[in-house]
Amino acid sequence: LPRLPIFEAIKTHDGQSTAVVHSLSGRSFTYGELVNDVAAAKDKLQRNTNGKSAHGERIAFLVENGYDYVVTLLSILAAHAIAVPLSPTFPAQELRYILDQSESLMLLSSEKFQSQADEVLKEGLETKPINYKPEKIMTGKTDDHVSLEDPESDKGGMMLYTSGTTNRPKGVLLPQDVLTAQSMSLLKAWEYSSKDILLHVLPLHHIHGTVNALLTPLFAGSRIEFQFPFNATAVWERLVAPFLPNPDPSKQPITFLTVVPTIYTCLIASHPTLSSELQTATKTALHPSNMRLNISGSAALPTPVKSAWTELSGGNVLLERYGMTEVGMALSCGLDFHNRIDGSVGWPLPLVQARLVDTETGAVILEGQEIDKETGRERQGEIQLRGPTIFREYWRNPTATLKEFTNDEDGRGKWFKTGDVAVRRPITNTEVQDHQNGRIDSQDWVRGPAYFIFGRRSADIIKTGGEKVSALEIERELLSLPQVSECAVVGLPSEAWGQKVAVVVVLSELGKTAGRKGGEWGALDMRRALKERLANYKIPQELKTVASIPRNAMGKINKKQLVIQIWGEPL
Ligand code: ATP
Ligand code: MG
Repeated sequence: LPRLPIFEAIKTHDGQSTAVVHSLSGRSFTYGELVNDVAAAKDKLQRNTNGKSAHGERIAFLVENGYDYVVTLLSILAAHAIAVPLSPTFPAQELRYILDQSESLMLLSSEKFQSQADEVLKEGLETKPINYKPEKIMTGKTDDHVSLEDPESDKGGMMLYTSGTTNRPKGVLLPQDVLTAQSMSLLKAWEYSSKDILLHVLPLHHIHGTVNALLTPLFAGSRIEFQFPFNATAVWERLVAPFLPNPDPSKQPITFLTVVPTIYTCLIASHPTLSSELQTATKTALHPSNMRLNISGSAALPTPVKSAWTELSGGNVLLERYGMTEVGMALSCGLDFHNRIDGSVGWPLPLVQARLVDTETGAVILEGQEIDKETGRERQGEIQLRGPTIFREYWRNPTATLKEFTNDEDGRGKWFKTGDVAVRRPITNTEVQDHQNGRIDSQDWVRGPAYFIFGRRSADIIKTGGEKVSALEIERELLSLPQVSECAVVGLPSEAWGQKVAVVVVLSELGKTAGRKGGEWGALDMRRALKERLANYKIPQELKTVASIPRNAMGKINKKQLVIQIWGEPL
């Protein structure tokens, strides 16, 4: 696999092939146009840095999802600067925090967001970024004279801010070579190709929207079709368009969709509202013979969502993976359907070294030692990772950087401590075992026991009466009950138990009348329903019903905030 920077890689693709499509207008741009526009935008950028070299400087930008965004991002990388994507949905104060924290040299804004940028720059900033408004980024004309060769060493990359689920967002520095390694790892595992057409409906300031859904397909020469912000009906209409009578030839079948679980939930929920003609066409659009790959990640995938999607699509099993801003993607289920194990995020991806470190003893859990011999229980371990896909540092936060990496124990590099806890289980599926025995051809990185995420050490591992309980495991069971539509399991302080398990539930329509005597389904009903499924100490002792659970743009729940909101006390 080539280890090129992205702006070099796009030059190797067929210039005539389509790189980017704007789904709603149908406007499209070729790789040839992209290469030229990136070169022109890079030159323009370098002429506007007040005489300073852009090398290694942070350049923040506010640009709408689409071709302009791609050109802007790649031109910053080509100028060997560090791209800091901003989300226009952030309030001015949050944008100022990021501009200051990243010490951005420049804030680049497209026409649409210029007044927002002016507002942000007006006051309250410590740094004074240059307000750069390229007149018009989008050109889409081909010009033959392109040279992106830069003799100096590469200081460019991206700085992505974490979702801020557990704390204030941290600036994660991802140098160009790390971005390339992350993309190469996914390219090998998920086999992106120039035949793929990916529908992009995610925000672009997160690793998922940027590396999985943008950079990797660009490395592969795939086509990326932007449709943003996400709207379930619009997505369904686009997916089925090629399969309706007299299709518009510009609407080719989408082959690849990578989104967060809440998006699959929305799609499934809106499916019954489609006309029967469209509903029939969705089966064809999603069938594995047309839709090559449907991926879920960024938060745990509830099993009922996975089964509903399999049903809707006539057998397209969702592939779940695990990753984070600091590491890109780290664990993934396999391309073969039978390697998409329910509740599991699979195996360490190519280029990624992973290990589990026992949260009790601090010892590395070696293969074959997954069960504690004394207690017969599964050993829970923190996921630790190393390799070329891992970030270098938290920007201007050496204390956090030092704290989150181990020492270099064996001279082969430090491990990053993800803060996520998992268990590993041998997979009994006979076909998988056949793969491991080498009898069936398979992707070589899919081997050994598979990982199951138990959640964040800080918020999802509940210590109750000496037992360590996984909030995610309990949520999984609750979500498989028809009375529950959403839930969040948390630990509350308890004198008797240290912590006690509690749950916040959004009831389904059924749940609202499924309780005893026709009332709301409640704590006793839950206890009865879970008795056969979970050990007694795992069953929540307290249940609160709410109308909705707040989530961020990536569908994540901030449990600390939720507990304060509901119980008025910190976790
Ligand atoms: P912050 O670090 O600011 O608190 P965050 O951790 O939510 O925010 P991200 O880097 O976007 O920011 O998210 C990474 C986290 O998302 C992982 O550490 C993990 O807890 C969770 N996650 C990602 N994929 C999965 C998955 N498939 N199943 C369960 N959890 C997942
Ligand atoms: Mg995090």
